[in-house]
Amino acid sequence: MNDVSRPDELVTRIQGVGRWTLRVTESRMTTPRMHRIRLKGSGLGDFNYLPGQDVMLWVPADGERMLYRRYTIRHFDRETRSLDLDIFVHGKGGPGENWAKTVQTGDIVDVVGPRGKISLASAPWHLFAGDETYISATFAMLEALPAGTPAWAFLEVADLGEEQPLTANANVQLTWIHRGNASPGDPAALVAAIESAKLPASPGHAYIGAELQVARTLHRALEARGLDTNQISSKAYWGRGRANASIGEPK
Ligand SMILES: Cc1cc2nc3c(=O)[nH]c(=O)nc-3n(C[C@H](O)[C@H](O)[C@H](O)COP(=O)(O)OP(=O)(O)OC[C@H]3O[C@@H](n4cnc5c(N)ncnc54)[C@H](O)[C@@H]3O)c2cc1C
Repeated sequence: MNDVSRPDELVTRIQGVGRWTLRVTESRMTTPRMHRIRLKGSGLGDFNYLPGQDVMLWVPADGERMLYRRYTIRHFDRETRSLDLDIFVHGKGGPGENWAKTVQTGDIVDVVGPRGKISLASAPWHLFAGDETYISATFAMLEALPAGTPAWAFLEVADLGEEQPLTANANVQLTWIHRGNASPGDPAALVAAIESAKLPASPGHAYIGAELQVARTLHRALEARGLDTNQISSKAYWGRGRANASIGEPK
């Protein structure tokens, strides 16, 4: 039995979202641990979203149960009616990861979206911090910043092979942090990066997307750097040692 509303029911409960039946037209690895999935559907001509927003995929869990997993929109192309998602293969197993690993070109997936309240704030400078799961959101927002806008991004990944190229008009200082063989979900390296960042005195805006406890710790580190809570947009993306809830959020 499903304990979560089906996509056709969910869209009636969440304001401003649509239900999209999309076909997988591409599935490939862009790094050793990152799946790029392209989804296409004629209905996407009406799709509107803000950089940083995500979609909920309705994917199989165990047996006949279905649930949602949330993934940020990396690119959207209205002309070809397609959107790209980058799904991190964390290796712990889970419905989202399993779907990404086994999905085939031509498969159909039900999608609800766009979701997410966090997008670019109006600020003189911007700072982004998170792990692999936050690369899509960070890159989508950095690419949308006006030319020359100062921005810092601190992204923790396993190693050099997980770094991705960024093309943005903003004045971006992108720092990749390598955790090596350590488990994801430790805030130490990202906190150290935030503590030592040379930031302007003017009030900027910071964005966090990471493991639940890491996100909380980074929030405190940014407050210690003088940012008010209203200058920090933070979202827990996953929980260490715990599967996300059926609706796609950390429990
Ligand atoms: C708004 C939002 C946007 C998101 N955007 C993206 C995105 O663009 N790309 C992306 O890859 N993810 C993204 N995520 C995170 C992704 O939804 C979670 O990582 C989710 O847990 C994956 O589901 P799963 O079914 O693979 O694993 P789950 O069933 O949730 O968990 C199974 C096991 O895997 C572990 N696990 C889950 N995620 C990770 C991880 N990242 N590292 C290490 N262990 C992990 C859990 O602790 C658990 O032990 C987003 C989450 C939210 C809330």
